[in-house]
Amino acid sequence: MHESTMEQLWQTSHLAGGNFAYVEQLYETYLTDPNAIPEEWRNYFDKLPIDQGLPSQDVPHSVIREQFLKLAKRRSAVVEASPASLVSTEHERKQVKVLQLINTYRFRGHQKAKLDPLGLMEREYVADLELDYHGLTKADVDTVFQTGSLCFGVETMTLGEIQKGLEYTYCDTVGAEYMHIVNTDEKRWLQQRLESVRSHPVYEKERRIHLLERLTAAEGLEKYLSSRYPGTKRFGLEGGESLIPLVDELIQRAGSYGAKEIVIGMAHRGRLNVLVNTLGKNPKALFDEFEGKRLLDDGSGDVKYHQGFSSNVMTAGGEVHLALAFNPSHLEIVSPVVEGSVRARQDRREDNVGDMVVPIIMHGDAAFAGQGVVMETFQMSQTRGYGVGGTVHIIINNQVGFTTSRREDARSTEYCTDVAKMVQAPIFHVNGDDPEAVLFVTQVAMDYRNTFKKDVVIDLLCYRRRGHNEADEPSATQPLMYQVIRSLPTTKTLYAKRLVEDGVLSEEDAKKIEDEYRDLLDNGSHVVKSLVKEPNKEMFVDWTPYLGHKWTAKCKTGISLKTLQRLGKKMDTFPESFVPQRQVSKIMDDRNKMTQGAMPINWGYAEVMAYATLLHEGNEIRLTGQDVGRGTFSHRHAVLHNQKDGSTYVPLQHLADEQPVFDIYDSYLSEEAVLAFEYGYATTNPKTLVIWEAQFGDFANGAQVVIDQFITSGEHKWGRLCGLTLLLPHGYEGQGPEHSSARLERFLQLAAEHNIQVCVPTTPAQVFHMLRRQVKRPLRKPLVCMSPKSLLRHKEAISTLEELADGHFQTVIPEVDDAIEPKNVRRVIMCSGKVYYDLLDKRRTDGITDTAIIRIEQLYPFPEDDLEEVLSQYKKLDAVVWCQEEPMNQGAWYCSQHHMRAVIGKTHPKVYLHYSGRPGSASPAAGYGHVHAEEQSKLVNDAFTVE
Ligand code: AMP
Repeated sequence: MHESTMEQLWQTSHLAGGNFAYVEQLYETYLTDPNAIPEEWRNYFDKLPIDQGLPSQDVPHSVIREQFLKLAKRRSAVVEASPASLVSTEHERKQVKVLQLINTYRFRGHQKAKLDPLGLMEREYVADLELDYHGLTKADVDTVFQTGSLCFGVETMTLGEIQKGLEYTYCDTVGAEYMHIVNTDEKRWLQQRLESVRSHPVYEKERRIHLLERLTAAEGLEKYLSSRYPGTKRFGLEGGESLIPLVDELIQRAGSYGAKEIVIGMAHRGRLNVLVNTLGKNPKALFDEFEGKRLLDDGSGDVKYHQGFSSNVMTAGGEVHLALAFNPSHLEIVSPVVEGSVRARQDRREDNVGDMVVPIIMHGDAAFAGQGVVMETFQMSQTRGYGVGGTVHIIINNQVGFTTSRREDARSTEYCTDVAKMVQAPIFHVNGDDPEAVLFVTQVAMDYRNTFKKDVVIDLLCYRRRGHNEADEPSATQPLMYQVIRSLPTTKTLYAKRLVEDGVLSEEDAKKIEDEYRDLLDNGSHVVKSLVKEPNKEMFVDWTPYLGHKWTAKCKTGISLKTLQRLGKKMDTFPESFVPQRQVSKIMDDRNKMTQGAMPINWGYAEVMAYATLLHEGNEIRLTGQDVGRGTFSHRHAVLHNQKDGSTYVPLQHLADEQPVFDIYDSYLSEEAVLAFEYGYATTNPKTLVIWEAQFGDFANGAQVVIDQFITSGEHKWGRLCGLTLLLPHGYEGQGPEHSSARLERFLQLAAEHNIQVCVPTTPAQVFHMLRRQVKRPLRKPLVCMSPKSLLRHKEAISTLEELADGHFQTVIPEVDDAIEPKNVRRVIMCSGKVYYDLLDKRRTDGITDTAIIRIEQLYPFPEDDLEEVLSQYKKLDAVVWCQEEPMNQGAWYCSQHHMRAVIGKTHPKVYLHYSGRPGSASPAAGYGHVHAEEQSKLVNDAFTVE
């Protein structure tokens, strides 16, 4: 490009006046697809002295304008090409318009597509899809133009043919959104797949009959259930029957690509249908559930449309294990649970790319648009710690959420799927009443996932033939929609008619398919032909070693001193060239001294040694959460950072040449999705110690759904064991309302029937044994740990190597000061957590000798027997006090006092249990430092005096 020519160009022709917009558009086309414009223009643009880094691809319009204006102003640019060569003929100009039209269809064709089987969807008029918008007219339709990058298989076509092909490809029953993808390879791949068959491949007869069979099964099951159990809630699939062939195709295709496991997540709508028609659940088992029969020996069970299921099916690539995740009513929360389960399976199979285990998640349109966890799930999709090589998302888009269907009420985005654009996922909107179009986008979606290992979305536009559930009358709120639905034949009826018209089968054949399916149901037989009757058990984890154990199951958590020291040495070793930061270096030196017994051991050391010893014994560990590498309070330093080049070194990954995996990932700033992910991981893999650490304990508030609906209740509802550990920093240290409390009371209120363990360890040895116990006991129960903050460095919160080697986790720590003789003790203070050290300090300062301080280190299951043993040695008690830092309405007081009273009732029936702690408070902690200090000192004093 030479300046003079540019100047000439500017002054004389293209960049000036009316042509400005024309060249600008041409340039825009060039940016998205250089091959779409004539060669001489391409050469010309290739040489433009555009500012470095700008514009590249998919740049906003404004940026392009700016660039051209700059060029115009600069006037110093040089143009190589002669002006004459740039003056285009009228035909050339039109050719460019045609290429722009093609591009517009790719960008906006979906907005005109016939996606809604009801024909009610509000669509914006898209002027850009009209010829005249591009300066083309009807008179041009017979003119032959080059097709540019269009994948229609020919180089030239008339404008009429081009437009017809584009309409069929982009504006018929498939609406593909993919031009938001920046990666050119992906975009070209998608264009090729869509345009080469105009989004409507011709399927063989067998394939079409199979489609009809699957639709008949989908419809047949709902009809059957409706007549056998009229009015019973089942959240039927009627109106969305195409889902069944869709999911079938995904499974078969994934299997043919070598997948060995598929984990499926879905909400309640259509679930019974998927269970029976896809996973091969025996219809008889379902009928039993309709009749209210008990499924679990233990536990309280769940409604039928929340049930999970596992089976194996045969595919072209071999046997595939299917697992449908159990789901609570919070619609979208199962998504990250599925991702975690998939990651656990991939890790088990050492599948680092996501070839062998594939997630399929079905969503409702309203929830997909509404619930934030969807965004959090997309955000994890390509991260190191949570990526699974892409998920196939399906929206069962019945265009109404319970009773809300007006777009202006339901969302602010055009489509319910817009959130998926944040990860540049291709989105295929498809009319559910065109089963072949559904099949096509399903194939493209699975192929895309398989090729690019990224998320992809199928938006299955359908409807809900009935109300929200079978007991609901929908026309009260959606009168017009239901007028249309009532007169609309079912998807299967429409497709059968189409096949009959196309001469693929006769009406009788179609009826026969229906009858055969009904007979299977009548006989209570399996209806999935590909179901493997004797599944290969190697394909999934055997949980039997973990079943049926009590929390009191014993195990040895100590380990020989020699091994401890050998592993300890590895903990402070790093490559010679590695330069740790100064404070970290000091921590490593201290760890070295601790290993040698030259220094008492602290929290960080004990915790790291718990991991080292578990790894040494063959257990895998996965530790995630915000800032886990270093630890929020800088105590862990499990990941060391080289000050020279920023590289990292994880000593726990270098214990031996061959060792179990130690995965440690700082998480992105999510609580809900990441905790759900770890729940999914832990419920899939009983062998790995899975730990999620909150930055501050109260951050777990953002994941309350996961705690309520999975962690604390999953075993009871669904018989799914879970050994997940939550480390929740907790303690009243004057940091104000938000960073003081991990909301102990909530966990205790959720605790029943030995569903979880709630521990508050106060010494390094305790955290060592607690973590080891979590793995070494055969029991798999969630462990909620109120972990410390200031105690991490407290001079009294120390242990010895011997306590690690020979000790065990103490549910109750009795008085440890020999000077407090039981015969002199008149008062016992019971407490948990950091306040113990405040009480100890007070007792020492005041020289008190008649008060014992007992630590309850496990608040649930409450160790009544152990406490009884400790209390019974004090024969002269006048008072027992429960001391807590939390306000009275929080902490352990309300939820645990009945356990304490039960024990005192046995050991000292006449002694009263007193309370010393903060008074009830709406906020967890005071925001003002001096208020905190006054409160703290009062509750500590009260513990020694309250009567
Ligand atoms: P899945 O691989 O999830 O399909 O699980 C296969 C089988 O393992 C299930 O059918 C259950 O019997 C059992 N199982 C899976 N997860 C758990 C769990 N968390 N607790 C107990 N049993 C489980």
